[in-house]
Amino acid sequence: MNNSVQLVLRQIPSVNKILQDSVMKSIIADYGEKLVKISINSVLGEIKSNILNGLVDNIPNYDDIVNQIKVEVNSKALPSLRKVINGTGIILHTNLGRASLPENVLNQMQRIASGYSNLEFDLETGKRGSRYAHVAGLISKITGAEDAVVVNNNAAAVMLVLSTLASKGDVVISRGELVEIGGSFRVPEIITSTGGNLVEVGTTNKTHLNDYAEKINEETTALLKVHTSNYKVIGFTEGVSTQELHQLAKENNLPLIVDLGSGLLVDLSKYINYKEPTVQEMVKNSDIVTFSGDKLLGGPQIGVIAGKKKYIDKIKKNQLLRALRVDKLTLSSLEIILREYYLKDEKKLLASIPVLKKLTESSDNLEQKAKDLLIILKANNKLNLKIIEDYSKVGGGSLPGLELPTYLVAIKAEGISVNKLESRLRKIDIPIIGRTIKDYFCLDLRTIEENEYEIIKDGLCRIISN
Ligand SMILES: *Cc1c(COP(=O)(O)O)cnc(C)c1O
Repeated sequence: MNNSVQLVLRQIPSVNKILQDSVMKSIIADYGEKLVKISINSVLGEIKSNILNGLVDNIPNYDDIVNQIKVEVNSKALPSLRKVINGTGIILHTNLGRASLPENVLNQMQRIASGYSNLEFDLETGKRGSRYAHVAGLISKITGAEDAVVVNNNAAAVMLVLSTLASKGDVVISRGELVEIGGSFRVPEIITSTGGNLVEVGTTNKTHLNDYAEKINEETTALLKVHTSNYKVIGFTEGVSTQELHQLAKENNLPLIVDLGSGLLVDLSKYINYKEPTVQEMVKNSDIVTFSGDKLLGGPQIGVIAGKKKYIDKIKKNQLLRALRVDKLTLSSLEIILREYYLKDEKKLLASIPVLKKLTESSDNLEQKAKDLLIILKANNKLNLKIIEDYSKVGGGSLPGLELPTYLVAIKAEGISVNKLESRLRKIDIPIIGRTIKDYFCLDLRTIEENEYEIIKDGLCRIISN
């Protein structure tokens, strides 16, 4: 290290000197000394490394250093996992946490989290109970399945089912269903990683019942059907219905396993122009069905395994189940959601599960919401605002291709490009994520709640006055 660099380094103020600063004293009063010290060390460390790496020749002036520390304290005071405003209109946005939960679920989670519960305690007998008992009965009543268990997510559910029922032989599946579903869930790899031997039948666009029948032999352990979820083959296509496949499985004394993906529990075809198989239909026409809790079901992240008791019994004995088990918070929220499905009239149910509410929200309602948000944002005269019509998507690999008519509030800010606006809105305390359409930053009202309008206004005000 040469002398001039050493001289510059010596000018960096000491942690103790900064801690004595009157501005710092008031920050310490708000945030505590530990957080402030960590922040000072991180800012001073960066200054030092910039000088050592020759990126700068001099240290910033004292006031700049204090300001950098303030910024660092503010950012360190925020958790990494934070609430964001979802203005993308994508209802089951996997990167933004998929389904949001209703208020009554949150109350229950808080009650269960903050004390003890009968998680694995049978209140009738006073003996050890099963954590699955709180939800299995409800799942059976709603779906018609003989029994059920839940695990961490649907990927885990599929792996557990295959490793229990099909790890030592051939798993027969249509080529058209060997799909990848976001975030590295690849059907062929899942089958082979659980020890099964993948037997592909048919072609990408067409598979006939005979294709399956021809591949069944004494090595076969299961027939697998996977909902292609985020992907659709259109045109000259043909698949085998689940009923036919189930018949074939029965004739050969094999289980038909269906990975349904989204766990749709109400027939939505009355409300939206889309035919998606429900869990109930699939339970009727197969032996084991797996699906996610945080897609169309609208609950917490879990994977449900529902179906014939003789298979569920085997799955319950698999040691893997212990490794994939869900915690009490997840179970408490799932139970409340399932109770809604079991006990509520359909109209009320659609209004109380946020995912279903967003899916079926009327155009008139969305237009009114856009007008309301626009009026609130108009208070800021540096914003150029208009309402535009567009389409929302469902996301999360559910209902691919479905476009729901919606209304957006389109925003331009004086003197700020749309890219700058987008990036600044991403970096505030409650980030606002939207869609960019040409030179407008747009917020789709389908995924925005009324109680978030003021947050959006405040966020925009902070950015514009910056
Ligand atoms: C989404 C999906 C999965 C993965 O489910 P997670 O709950 O995200 O683990 C698996 N299979 C299908 C068909 C899916 O749609």
